[in-house]
Amino acid sequence: MSYSGRFAPSPTGPLHAGSMVAALASWLDARARCGRWLVRIEDVDSPRRIVGADQLILGQLAACQLLPDELVPAQSQRGDAYAAALRQLEGIGATFRCSCSRRQIAAHWKGLGRQRGRTEEWPYPGTCRNRSAFDGRDAGSIRLRCGTDESAIVIEWQDRRLGEQQQDLTHFCGDFVLLRNDGLWAYQLAVVVDDAAQGISDVVRGEDLADNTPRQIHLQNLLGLPRPRYLHVPLVLGADGEKLSKQNGAQAIDTRDPLQILRAAGARLGVDGAAATPADWLAAAVRRWAALYPLPNRHGAP
Ligand code: GLU
Repeated sequence: MSYSGRFAPSPTGPLHAGSMVAALASWLDARARCGRWLVRIEDVDSPRRIVGADQLILGQLAACQLLPDELVPAQSQRGDAYAAALRQLEGIGATFRCSCSRRQIAAHWKGLGRQRGRTEEWPYPGTCRNRSAFDGRDAGSIRLRCGTDESAIVIEWQDRRLGEQQQDLTHFCGDFVLLRNDGLWAYQLAVVVDDAAQGISDVVRGEDLADNTPRQIHLQNLLGLPRPRYLHVPLVLGADGEKLSKQNGAQAIDTRDPLQILRAAGARLGVDGAAATPADWLAAAVRRWAALYPLPNRHGAP
C-alpha cells in the first residue's frame, strides 16, 4: 500500500503550539515517505465548531508551507457514509440502543465505590445491553458491544514510537457510543470510516489519542477495514501540566514568523536545526524525521 497520511483538526479554534506539532509530524512523515498528505476537517461535534476556524487553520498551515495534496473534506458532509457503516454493524448484531446519561453511568460506579482519574472516562457498565423495551421518549444513543466480563476484548497493537501496546477494551471503556443521543456521530466511528475512505496508511497524531486507538481498531475489524500504522507524538503541555488547549491558555500561533513556529514544533519532535528559510528548515527536518522514525512493515512488524 502506498503511503497516505493525514492531519485531522477539529475546527474549535485556530491552531496553537500543540496542534501544530501534530500537523507538522504528520506532514514530515508523509514527506519522508514521498507519500500523500491529506487534511480533513473533523466537525462532527457541531456544537463545538467555531465558524471560520477551518479556513483559519488551513491558512495557518499554508503560511507554514504545509499544503494538503487534495481537496479538504469535512465530516459534516459525510453522514451517509457513517450511516452505512452503522447499518453494517447493526446487521451483525454488534450494536444496541442505550438511554443512559453520563450522570447515570457515573452514579453506577460511584455507588460501587469506584474511583477514576481526573481525565479518565467511566467505562460503560452494560446497563442497556440486553434491554429490549424503550418508550418513545428515550430515543437514546447507539453503542457498540465490546465484550463481556466472561469474554473481554483485548486489542494489541504496535505504535511506531510507543512500541507494543495492549488495552482491555471491555474494561477500559466498555460498549462505546457510535451515534450520540443528540443525533451527532461519534468521533470513533467517523474517524474509522474516513481513514478507510481516504486510504490512510499511516495515522500520525498526538499521544492523547493513543487510548482511542483500540476502539478504532475494533471498529476496523468489525467493518472489515484495513488497519493503518500508528505513530503517536509527544504533546505540548500547558502551565497546569495538562495537554495544551484553549482551556489552559493556548494562544493561536502567530503566522508572521513561520520559521519560528516550525522550529518550536520541530524542537518538540526532536527534528529542529538552524535554517535560513521555512523551506530549508522543512527539507532538513524531513531528513531528520526519516532517520528518527523508520517505517516498519504493516502493523508494526520490524
Ligand atoms: N480531530 C481530532 C483532534 O483534533 C484528531 C483526530 C485524529 O487525529 O484521529 O483532536
